[in-house]
Amino acid sequence: MSQPIRVLALHAHPDDVEFQCGGTLILLREAGCQVTIATMTPGDCGSAEHDALAISAIRREEARMSAELIGAEYLCLEFRDLAIFNDDESRRRVTEALRRIQPEIILTAPPSDYMADHEMTSLLVRDACFAAPCPNYTTRQWEPAPPLEKIPHLYFVDPVEGVDRDGRPVPVDFHVDISRVFPTKRAMLACHASQRDWLLRQHGMDEYLNVQGKWGMQRGGEIGVAFAEAFRQYRGHPYPQGNLLLQVLGQDGRGKPAETGPVIISLHSR
Ligand SMILES: [Zn+2]
Repeated sequence: MSQPIRVLALHAHPDDVEFQCGGTLILLREAGCQVTIATMTPGDCGSAEHDALAISAIRREEARMSAELIGAEYLCLEFRDLAIFNDDESRRRVTEALRRIQPEIILTAPPSDYMADHEMTSLLVRDACFAAPCPNYTTRQWEPAPPLEKIPHLYFVDPVEGVDRDGRPVPVDFHVDISRVFPTKRAMLACHASQRDWLLRQHGMDEYLNVQGKWGMQRGGEIGVAFAEAFRQYRGHPYPQGNLLLQVLGQDGRGKPAETGPVIISLHSR
């Protein structure tokens, strides 16, 4: 029986996914994909008023509600803020997550960004993509999931403000026009009320939602549409080279519909 294409968006903290690729996930859901939003941590350091346990519970629930808004699942890998390291145990844990979700498309953090959690997430996901199909690579779980059939299509989202650690703009492979679904992306972000309120108090304005609006508009302006998100595809040998993400969306990566139209969503049978 054929199954929908499975998509995993895995970033470091709650709201990172929504900021950088929420619009694209909405479009992928509309196209019939099964979507999982995952975070490495529950955002346990993201509060000045709640302790780590309390804010973690609040932010897991916010992330779950945001995912639910688009009919996606939410999963937390239960690392802790500022304690994500590219080591043996961590790679096995991320690999196990991939094996449980069995994604064909993965969206993750970019290799260069303003903080270590984002960069470590990027490295761990990249290498977990390679490890997940290897039958001899064990994840040391009680009930390990089976290996992937093949390496998933891997994409990096934008770093914060689109720049690397030296403030230089990072290269972009393609854009996704999210203009039509932008209000839903905004609604997903609004689910992260604890972060929005915190910035509202700090800045005295709704900076949380405004920032992503401005960034979406900037990316949109680059391709002549109202709002866009930008991506880079990881093409290291032997990762998939074809752009399945754009094929599923039926976009050409420059703000136009693809000439061929969207592909049929069921890729293969299992
Ligand atoms: Zn983050």
